[in-house]
Order: sequence, then structure tokens, then C-alpha cells
Amino acid sequence: MAFASTYAQEHFCATHKQKYFQKSYGKAATSQQLSLMNNYDVKFHHLNLNIERNSTIISGNVRTIAKVVVNALDTFGFELHSNHTIDSVVNSSGVQLTVQHQSNFAYVLLPQSIQKDNLIDVTIYYHGDALVAAGAAIGSGFTTGTSTRWGNQATWSLSQPYSAYEWFPCKQALQDKIDSVYTYVTTSNENKVGAIGVIKDVVNLSGNKVRYQWQSKLAVDYYLISIAVAKYVEYNTYAHIDGDSMLIQDYIYDNPATLTTFKPELDKTAPMIEGFSNWFGKYPFWKEKYGHAMAPFSGGMEHQTMTSIGIINFSIVAHEIGHQWFGDHVTCKTWKDIWLNEGFATYCEYLALELLSPSEAPADMIAVHNTVMSQTDGSIWFEDTTNVSRMFSSRLTYNKAGAFVHILRYELNNDSLFFAILKRYQQQFAFGTANTADFKTLLEQQSSKDFTQVFNQWFYGQGYPTFNVSWNQLNDTLYLVSNQTVSSTTPLFNTPVEYKITYAGGDTTLRIMHNQKQVWFKLPINKMVSAIAIDPNNWIINRGTAAKDVTIVGLNEQLFNQSNVQLYPNPASQQIQINGVNPSSNVLVFDALGRVQISTTLKNNNLDVSSLNSGLYWVEVKDALNQNCIQFIKQ
Ligand SMILES: [Zn+2]
Repeated sequence: MAFASTYAQEHFCATHKQKYFQKSYGKAATSQQLSLMNNYDVKFHHLNLNIERNSTIISGNVRTIAKVVVNALDTFGFELHSNHTIDSVVNSSGVQLTVQHQSNFAYVLLPQSIQKDNLIDVTIYYHGDALVAAGAAIGSGFTTGTSTRWGNQATWSLSQPYSAYEWFPCKQALQDKIDSVYTYVTTSNENKVGAIGVIKDVVNLSGNKVRYQWQSKLAVDYYLISIAVAKYVEYNTYAHIDGDSMLIQDYIYDNPATLTTFKPELDKTAPMIEGFSNWFGKYPFWKEKYGHAMAPFSGGMEHQTMTSIGIINFSIVAHEIGHQWFGDHVTCKTWKDIWLNEGFATYCEYLALELLSPSEAPADMIAVHNTVMSQTDGSIWFEDTTNVSRMFSSRLTYNKAGAFVHILRYELNNDSLFFAILKRYQQQFAFGTANTADFKTLLEQQSSKDFTQVFNQWFYGQGYPTFNVSWNQLNDTLYLVSNQTVSSTTPLFNTPVEYKITYAGGDTTLRIMHNQKQVWFKLPINKMVSAIAIDPNNWIINRGTAAKDVTIVGLNEQLFNQSNVQLYPNPASQQIQINGVNPSSNVLVFDALGRVQISTTLKNNNLDVSSLNSGLYWVEVKDALNQNCIQFIKQ
């Protein structure tokens, strides 16, 4: 595996997940199976498994306790891959129950129905080979392999999104978090076992075996439960949060060079957790721990309290720590909302640079923007969750969504409010799930600002703006004209844009609103301007050029007083009136996807919109001098 070239092209996390998804995605439970499982709410799993570092063979049992949420339950259904044989299912009284295991799903017939709010308590004994996709380059629900760089063997799980059932009996439903999980693994005593939560005991057994007994009492989604088994050395450090000292427990390949190589990056874990705790709220799993467990795959996976990691570098360490808040503590409610995990985790890479290596942060955001703009179209939002390469698109779900979080921060224009909102999001959805609407609602409530247009153009919309700027200086006045063109279907990016104006002896940065395709402005500057830079702090996804043009002054001087175009009523039902333009201007009306719905001329400044369906539209008005683009809502 070529780590460096992999990184240059794709996000680690995305690269790994895309490869992984392509072969496993179609194995989700059917809707009937999901509805059977939604008859109960999982409270507790106790995994009790035998696993070696060089084999995908599993044997053991899993106890599940769940609360019945329907009036009466007589069949307990769960997912388990058909590679595994179910030896028996027993209830808490030791009574063996009848089970049918077919097509990766098991039906347990309960001797008598269990009433609402009562508990199901069953233990499933099984064994099998969990290697479901033999021959894959990397990744599977459960994999064994040897590190090409270090030569160490490891066996590890990686269940996102639907592969937990390849290695343990479970219910794969994002909105049913499991209140607590015990992970007990018996293995040869030269191995260590990494898992979620804290080690309660390590029990020596006969036959040179040892049992690691991990317990977690904090709610966790099914795909964030994990194990990693290898010959590890343990490297412990501590983070200090709110007066508490918390263990950072790293399981690094037992190899003389590995820890030495990665120690500088591992030692950034504590300051990252401390810094993120200041911004997002106290590290959500501080009662347990954080750690890394190495496994030979080309990425990282944000297993709760114990990231599985194949490549240890600054970005991936920051990304997976960020996921502990965004992904683990607050999990996407559906896979369509995956940007709430990956966009924020990607943004955490940037934030970690701001925190620990600020001079490198601008280059990171420029690289993110360039990746987004490597193609002209594409939105963060997607509908088709069967399109797996789209779901885990490095360009859109990671980079564009990360850039979008940066744009939200810019629109708020108030860092203490921005971080207060992220903290509030963590509080409101703590140990639960959230979707895009939940996030947007909270953002708008906390900021008292309507973010509909920001979401429409950057999140649902496609493409990016290019600003071509001409400027000139006459005496003590700077004249500037900015023309916006767009790369895709979003007809106008209605956005503030920063201009850095450099003059003899200094510079100043202004934020100017761009609510039309062409913006004219002038400002008094009594020093000689030498250069103008567009978006110098890399806030928005854009391209731009700025050039001095002596012809712009005098030609249309009246336009340097901002255009005064007004549209009303808005929302409208029958007619809209557009003032401040030629009363018989040409107009085009676009829908939210950029398709022309009306092409006509204004009649005495009026436009008939009665034929439009309700929704969001853009009206483009052109007269001899100007071109304006204004958003309105048809009721
Ligand atoms: Zn990620």
C-alpha cells in the first residue's frame, strides 16, 4: 500500500470506506426484517468471543437484553451472517428456544409472548468463519491480515455501515443505540485485545489463553462496537479536561520501530481532545477513555473510545477524534445525513491545525476547496443511498461538507456563537442521533438567522462561483466591479465576499455582500492601492481574479452606487413587482435545480408567477446596463 499517494488522491477514511462499501453494502436487512427488529429497543450486548490475531474464525456467545416496545412480542428477530452456525439460543432461565436462521437473519420463537416494556434476555451461541468477502484488498466486517510495513498480524472488525452482522448477532438500526456493551475476548496470551469502554479485567486462562474483559456503559451505535486483536504494546498518556485526568490508551504493533515512529503524532491526541473539549463540550466519553488500536488497513475508523487505525498521521488522528463528537456521540439519523459525521470530522482536521499548527491551516482549506472544484458540479445532499461511491464521496461528503461547515462559520461571522452552536448540538442530541433538518433548525434558533438560502446554494445546490473583479483608483476613491459566473446549476451565490486591499504601508479586508451577478462599489482610500485579493482567508468555495482596469471609471459611474433592485411581495402567489430596473427588462425564472421555468419581459415592472408550483425560484433580470439575480418563494 502506498500511503502517500493514497492520501494525495483520496481521503483516507473515504478511500477505505468506498472499497469496503462496494462489496458489502447490499447486505442490509430487508424492511420486513427491520420492522420485526423495531419491535424492541436494544439495551445491552455482552459479547463473549474467542478470536485469534491470524484468523477470522469466531466462536462464542452474545447475550442481548432488549425492551419490548410493541404490545406483545412472540418472535425475536436479529441479523447474523449465514457463514455462522447458531448452536443454540437460551433465555435467562436457561431454556433453549427454537430458532430459524435463514438468509442472514434469525427468528427466535418465544415460548410465550413478552408484553410491552418487559425485557427480552437471550444468549446466542454461535461459531463460524466471519470472512465474508474473501480476496478483498482491504476491509470487511471482520478481517485478518498482516501489515506490509511492519509485518504484524492483526484481526479486526469494521462494521460501517451494515457489516456488524458479519461477526456478531445484532440489530443494524442507527436510531437504536445500545445503552451498554461488554466485549470479552479470549485469545492467545501473547495478544492484546482493543475494544470500546474500559478494561475491567484481564483473566489468565489455561492453555496459554487470556480473556480481555472490556465494558462500556455509554450509549453506542451498532457499527461503532469493535474489536482489534494483535501482538501490541500499550502506550498510555493522559488528557486533562475540566480537572479530570483521562487515559489515552494506544495499542501499537509490538515491533521495535512502530511506537518510535508514531509517538510524535500519538502525542498530539491529548491536546486535540483538550482543544476539542473546549470547543464542542467535554469529550463525551471522558468517563471511559480514548485510544487507538492498530490494524492493517489504509485508513482510520472512529470506533467509540478506540479508533481502529492503519495510518497514523496528524489529519487522520484529528479526523477520528473529531468523530467521537460528530458521528459517535451524535450519530447521523439516516445514512443520507452522513455529512453530519464526515463533514464535521473533515472540518476537525482543519480545526486541529488552527489549534496546534496554525500556519498550516490555510493550505489545508485551499486543498479542500481545490478538491471540491476539481469537478464543476455535485451537491453535498444526495437521495440514493444505494449509490455507495456517492455516499462516501471524498469530494462531496468529506471535502465539500467540511468546506460547508467553514462557510456556516463565515456566515455566522462570530466564532463564539459558532462554537456555542456546535456545543449546543452536542448537548441537544447527546448519545443520540440527528438529521440535517435537526441541525439546521438548531443553527437557525441559536443564531436567529434564516439559513435556507445558504443551504440551498451550498448544500443542496451544485457548483461554485467565480468572481472576475476589475478595479481602478482615481484620486482618493477605489472603484471595483465584481462579475460572478457559476460552474453549475446554482444560478447565483448570494454570499458575502472578503476583499483584501493592499496599499502603500498596509492593507485592509472588507466583507462585501454579493446579491447580484454584478456588484459595483466604491470606497474612499487615500493611499495608493497596489493589489486586491478575493477571499484571502479561504472562507468560501470559489475561484477569482482581480485586475486593475482603468476603463471602468467614468463609463458607468452611476452604477457604483449599489443597485437598488427590489422584489415584492416575497413570498408571492400571483404577481411580483421588480423595481429598480428597466420596467420592460428581459427576465428568466429558474427553479432550484437551475431549469428555466419562465422566459419573458417585465410588463410595467410586473411579472406573472401564477403558473409556478410552490417552491424556491431565482429571477434573473437583464437590462442594458445590469444583470440582477434575486431569490423568491412561490407560495
Ligand atoms: Zn470519517
